[in-house]
Amino acid sequence: MQIEVRIDYSALGLKVGLECHQQLASREKLFCACGPQLFKEEPETTFLRRLRPTQSELGQVDPAAFFEFQKGVQILYEANRETACLVEMDEEPPHGLNREALEITLTVALMMGAKPVDEVHVMRKIVIDGSNTTGFQRTCAVAFDGVIDIEGKKIAIQHISLEEDAARKMGEEGFMIRYRIDRLGIPLIEVTTGPVIYTPEEAEKVALAIGRILRATRKVKRGLGTIRQDLNVSIRDGALIEIKGVQELDLIAKAVEYEVQRQLSLLKIKEELRKRGSTDAEITEGFVDATATLAESGCRIIRKAVSQGKLVLAVKLPKFAGLLGTELTLGLRLGTEMADRARFWGRVGGILHTDELLSYGSTEEEIHRLKTLVAAEAEDAVVLVVDAKENAVDALRAVVERAREALKGVPEETRAANADGTSRYMRPRPGAARMYPETDVPAIEITAEYVEQMRSCLPELPERQTERLIEAYGINEKLAKQLLDSEYGDLFEGIVKETGVSPTVVAATLTESLKALKRDGVEVEKLTENQITGIFRLVGSEKTAKEAIPEIVTWLSKHEDAEPSDAVKALGLATISKEELESIIDGFIEKNETLIKEKGDKAFGALMGAVMKEFRGKVNAEIVNITLKEKLQAYTKQWGTR
Ligand SMILES: [Zn+2]
Repeated sequence: MQIEVRIDYSALGLKVGLECHQQLASREKLFCACGPQLFKEEPETTFLRRLRPTQSELGQVDPAAFFEFQKGVQILYEANRETACLVEMDEEPPHGLNREALEITLTVALMMGAKPVDEVHVMRKIVIDGSNTTGFQRTCAVAFDGVIDIEGKKIAIQHISLEEDAARKMGEEGFMIRYRIDRLGIPLIEVTTGPVIYTPEEAEKVALAIGRILRATRKVKRGLGTIRQDLNVSIRDGALIEIKGVQELDLIAKAVEYEVQRQLSLLKIKEELRKRGSTDAEITEGFVDATATLAESGCRIIRKAVSQGKLVLAVKLPKFAGLLGTELTLGLRLGTEMADRARFWGRVGGILHTDELLSYGSTEEEIHRLKTLVAAEAEDAVVLVVDAKENAVDALRAVVERAREALKGVPEETRAANADGTSRYMRPRPGAARMYPETDVPAIEITAEYVEQMRSCLPELPERQTERLIEAYGINEKLAKQLLDSEYGDLFEGIVKETGVSPTVVAATLTESLKALKRDGVEVEKLTENQITGIFRLVGSEKTAKEAIPEIVTWLSKHEDAEPSDAVKALGLATISKEELESIIDGFIEKNETLIKEKGDKAFGALMGAVMKEFRGKVNAEIVNITLKEKLQAYTKQWGTR
């Protein structure tokens, strides 16, 4: 049973810090002239590299990457000519730092009241997960100590940096990881707040406010994947957890909430283990081969794996009975956390444990035999891994380690955001990243004159933008704010000016209508700006009605590269000409003679409804309104006043 409890976050000592990463819309990449965009086609070239962590002077290497290196993980990089050159392939040193990207970053820094550095130095931050062909990510601090105002509270912006985006992971097959280097080198701004956010809602508000300032520059990319938020979440007695890659703003509050719940639940498990007298020493790597015992298992997964010659390896977790199946937060259990670790370190599919074996088809008798085999008591749990021996051993080692950590509470780790707001284990938390100067890129001086010159022509702040939209276009405040928060804020003014469609119609379509379509599963993000503008062009020139927009958008989302006019044709949504409309209305009036004679002008509502019902999307409601009124008046006049 789940009981809804209002959590007092300040009592828990919740602290959240945000790192917002946003791709900049510069013409080139950060260190070369390649196009900063992604490609969808098959790659033109691929090349293979091995992970090669350089341990020597670093002292600390990412243990996860080092582990993969030892296992012989290889990386296949995919590229095409337009989006990658020798720089991304690490065959040529980086060119100078992209000045346009630096200027956008400085603009944001000044809008947040931060102090720019005197000299921008490009640094190397060691990253050895293969997401960078060089083994490091280039980054440079541009400004420090900014502040933004959230409903009267000052939120400290610790620093604003400019960095290169990493390659994007395309897949993983066995010991081969595939990365596409089109994204590698796209300029990314990083805005980092202090750990001064105290509730989930506040975290979302801060992220929203930062996003608005970024978009106000009109120099940032739009669309899913172009903005990524990392959250640093901690509560008292818990641990500092970094959650990487939250892509949707409206997931931030949820992500914080779930993480707090997860940590609280882990603390409860720790208490329970303490009560049961569990100790670190009794949790051991005493792995037992349970293949023969479970060969005829009622659990299909086990039976099938055994028939394929795989091994069933078991480990006893003393005093853990009932705890592995306890829900920590939405769908996550301690068992899930162990499975994540097993998958990561052992490359196995997952784990099975005695808290859930019954529901997977195992019999009581079979579980009893298993427990006897590993000498488990009623209070103990047993975890199983089914795989080749080497993988199974690595996986169970990770499970044992996670079990020991349960005694301490919340393990420090880096987690990756899931689409539902929960998170999963990603890797151990790396030590403080050591940085080294990138000697191939000269430093850039930022003079006081340059800063003053930039300060004198900063873009409008979001509050001012809202006011201006209201004044200039007569739209209401809600719509103006929604526009600025939407993907399409920049498009709005251009569309209104070019097509002459009513600003309120354009604004409501770009925000509410598109959002509603998205909720219904229409892949609205597939439409290009040109297609969207094209739709309004048709509406503005009365080639189709505004009521037809949702259908056109839906059709275009399924027909890449098609023109809006193709949609209108295919859907039969071309507007009916004035002459046609007149004869249609004449027809309606004739058909409804009795009604009109009875009700006179009052028949208007019924007729209007009938016409719109039959011709929605093909006629403009206002024109029907006017035409019908005129015709109806003329018609009723025939009888004069009776
Ligand atoms: Zn390049």
